[in-house]
Amino acid sequence: MKYPFLSDSHTHSKYSEDGADSVMMLCKNALDQGLYAITVTDHCECNTYWEQHFHESVCQSWSETRRAAVSFQNKIHIFTGVELGQPMQNKSGADDILNACSFDFVLGSLHNVKNERDFYDFDYQHRDVRPVLTQYFEELLEMIRWGKFDSLAHLTYPWRYFEEYGVGIPIEDYQNQIDHILKELIRQKKSLEVNTSGLRQKMGTTMPNEKIVKRYQSLGGSMVTVGSDAHRWADVGSGIEETLSMLRRIGFSHFTIYEKRTPVQVLISE
Ligand SMILES: [Zn+2]
Ligand SMILES: [Zn+2]
Repeated sequence: MKYPFLSDSHTHSKYSEDGADSVMMLCKNALDQGLYAITVTDHCECNTYWEQHFHESVCQSWSETRRAAVSFQNKIHIFTGVELGQPMQNKSGADDILNACSFDFVLGSLHNVKNERDFYDFDYQHRDVRPVLTQYFEELLEMIRWGKFDSLAHLTYPWRYFEEYGVGIPIEDYQNQIDHILKELIRQKKSLEVNTSGLRQKMGTTMPNEKIVKRYQSLGGSMVTVGSDAHRWADVGSGIEETLSMLRRIGFSHFTIYEKRTPVQVLISE
């Protein structure tokens, strides 16, 4: 292993609807790979918070992660977390889960804009996605101003599906809105996540891509979390090493992990 402090700050267990494996299995794989830290961040989709009983599933995830942390004590750092989806669409749901569990780390995330389906399910064949993209960036900005999270998850998430559906909209068309988001993150002292799941998918890049991460740095951004977004144990740690190399290439000396909602700057390499 090239880097001594490889850490995965975005993973899902079976307590996410689209996840498969136990928290223990995720953590065991992280340990076997020699990771320095892992954070379990199961989904909490605030827009369907009460109907889909996220209070229960997220609290279970939190408890199992605490148990795993005790079992693997002194071997690997295990942190509790949550991926808070669409908090602006149900702020009382977001507050409920934030009060229920003392998380180490909270990802702020947006999978669907108000009154639209997840970009994963969007009807690309019959509808123009452009106005929805404008709305996507506006809602992200609103979420950053609200501010009850630590790191912005997978910026440019809709592009994850564009390759698959043959949608040819360049990210550069939204550079202005992306700049606003990056500047607001810096102002609010929030981290930018570099999500490595795109490296395993058709898009073939991180979310956001290297160019946007570079832009963030040139605007003065210094806090970057890195996560695989693994939904099964075998993907834990996937793409992290490659992404740390990318961060080094851009000029970052550190990446960020969170303990008790406090950012800790970790050296990329010795
Ligand atoms: Zn997500
Ligand atoms: Zn996720």
